Amino acid sequence: MSILNGLNSEQRKAAEKIDGPLLILAGAGSGKTRTVTYRIAHMVLEKGISPYKILAVTFTNKAAKEMRERVENLIGLEAKKVMVSTFHSFGVRLLRVYAAKLGYDANFNIYDADDQKKLVGRLMKELVVTNKQLTPASVVSKISKYKEDGDEPSDVAKEVYNADTRVVAAVYEKYAQELIKNNAMDFADLLLNTNKLLDDPEVLEKIQGRYEYVMVDEYQDTNNIQYQIITKIAKKHKNICVVGDEDQSIYGFRGANIRNILDFEKEYKDAMVVKLEQNYRSTQNILGAANSIIKLNTTSRGKNLWTEKEKGHLIEIFSASDGRAEADYILQEIIKGKNNGRSYKDYTVLYRTNAQSRVFEEAFLRHRISYKIFGGMQFYQRVEVKDILSYMRVINNPKDTVSLFRIINVPKRKIGAKTIEKIRDFADENEIIFFEAMGRIEETGLGSAVKVTVLRLYEMLKNIMEESQFLTASEIYDMILEGTNYMNYLTSYDEKFEARMDNVRELRTSIQEMEDSEQYEGFISVGEFLEQTALVAATDDLEEDTDYVKLMTIHNSKGLEFPIVFLVGMEDELFPSAKADFSDDDLEEERRLCYVAITRAEEKLHISHASERMVYGRISYMRDPSRFLKEIDDRYVDYINKAKVTPKKKESKLGGLNLITKADFKVDEKSPFKIGEKVTHKKFGTGIIKDVEAGKRLVIRFRDGDKKLPLVLAEKFLVKE
Ligand code: ATP
Ligand code: MG
Repeated sequence: MSILNGLNSEQRKAAEKIDGPLLILAGAGSGKTRTVTYRIAHMVLEKGISPYKILAVTFTNKAAKEMRERVENLIGLEAKKVMVSTFHSFGVRLLRVYAAKLGYDANFNIYDADDQKKLVGRLMKELVVTNKQLTPASVVSKISKYKEDGDEPSDVAKEVYNADTRVVAAVYEKYAQELIKNNAMDFADLLLNTNKLLDDPEVLEKIQGRYEYVMVDEYQDTNNIQYQIITKIAKKHKNICVVGDEDQSIYGFRGANIRNILDFEKEYKDAMVVKLEQNYRSTQNILGAANSIIKLNTTSRGKNLWTEKEKGHLIEIFSASDGRAEADYILQEIIKGKNNGRSYKDYTVLYRTNAQSRVFEEAFLRHRISYKIFGGMQFYQRVEVKDILSYMRVINNPKDTVSLFRIINVPKRKIGAKTIEKIRDFADENEIIFFEAMGRIEETGLGSAVKVTVLRLYEMLKNIMEESQFLTASEIYDMILEGTNYMNYLTSYDEKFEARMDNVRELRTSIQEMEDSEQYEGFISVGEFLEQTALVAATDDLEEDTDYVKLMTIHNSKGLEFPIVFLVGMEDELFPSAKADFSDDDLEEERRLCYVAITRAEEKLHISHASERMVYGRISYMRDPSRFLKEIDDRYVDYINKAKVTPKKKESKLGGLNLITKADFKVDEKSPFKIGEKVTHKKFGTGIIKDVEAGKRLVIRFRDGDKKLPLVLAEKFLVKE
């Protein structure tokens, strides 16, 4: 019996097509990822293809891990020999081997956004940038954009239009030089440099010879650089299988190019194209809702997804008075479910932006519901954790001045900016790296007290460096903590020092866990550990067996599936998000994001919105339900508050929850409010009704501007004069 019996006939056709180009283009939950996994198993087990020849690239580490596990379930240990990886970690592997070709050492460090900002900030100071509009963060984002577009500093310098761009170009040029000097790459470099390496005929031949079969999942979200990397590798054998769904392209804002997937057939004329139409994930109602939304996109080619599953629950739509009430509703649903035998892990809360997690976090904490937030402020980015990691980075790569400057005076050692400048000058004069200059501090003209401190730090680090080859990362961690007396320093850091100490301890645990894992069998070098932490993505440590509610952004939920989903904050200006320059394309990308969110749900989907919410520290009133909510075909939804309460009531029976019904979205000719009438609102004062917009909301001119107010809220908050 073939492994491929686990696939339907269309999926099977795709899995059996091993030679030549293949495109699997299909909607959410139709088994694209499953097909890729089975295809790999089939190739290795039933076609006798060496697993070493297969390269499978996915988008997140979590997806890569899952794919590896699934292949392992099918074919056992041979699966470990297949290169299943993200673009970034595949790139890092290649770059470590060939670093010298690009002027790097193999032990280069990887800079995150925060490191980038620090470095750019320093360079802006050096270049005496006076323009207040240009912040390190804004310059970093401009540089990243150039990098995504493949523009080198010299390209940018050529086409400078105005003073700002000239400044950015200058910073960019210095930044690129500094990275090499620091033996460090930022995230964009991991891809750019990989792509550059593949222009080297020797490297390209090696890689093409090694990976005869290339597969890419989530191909719709590849950017131009990723596209080039894949195209170069696959060029020789043309055994390239790409998988995706144009309706799930959600990274356009970061340079993903939907044309990569749409033009695949043009590029490979003999490509076989497989479309999958059966959805195995969701109920009919969920699928129907998803389809009714995505078909409104002009870029969508339309899908006929169907399922054998039952109709299932209607999508429950809940209208809350405010963000807290929304969280309470979700809390109650989870508690109810838990009492009926469900587990916390069946529930997932999806939101548009990371900042939305806080209110749910608080509610879950209050009720002792275990939860886990994916994304947001990453563990490895917290101040105290980053401090220790910076020590490790200096030990791994003494050229890294971003890390060295971060810790040179942490804990406080009275090494100030002047001292650093002196040491730097000395380093430049003698053409040595900063760290070595610290070792030759005697030769500088610095005062004797500071010389002693600098030398002490240098020697502590140097000692660890010399032994570091033989030390596992946890031993290095211990030496750092002891050598710096870091915990003691934390006690006087701020009032949150206990939580910070916990995080530092947690870092030790995470090293230990990696060390003990099958992959490392008791020894992980500091370099390997740092690489793991740098590449960690938001969804990485999603452990399936532990029982907690998951919270994440929709972007992070890509490719995943969950039994019960709460899609929260469905309000205009939050989702779709409020962008000043909102174009049709942006709106369509938001709509695809909504499609991704809905199609994560297997059994049940709850959607909620609130009419009042804290946004960036301010209360925003009279928020409109998202236009996407109204785009879902009525057949699939249930406005759950309808039966329980009439909209005219001022207080609902459910204490504090302001429940509104479907009727409130409809045109209401009998609106009690007329244009021109004078009304009073408790927050905004007196105003005049300017418009009764499509009967569903009022536009009122108050002293400080026009406000839009849904009718249902108007009845609650307005008093006629
Ligand atoms: P997405 O677009 O969200 O990435 P996808 O197309 O990759 O979705 P998968 O995640 O591969 O879809 O599959 C969705 C679910 O359906 C999985 O739980 C998978 O195991 C199941 N499934 C897919 N095909 C089959 C099949 N032929 N028989 C049984 N289950 C299947
Ligand atoms: Mg998938």
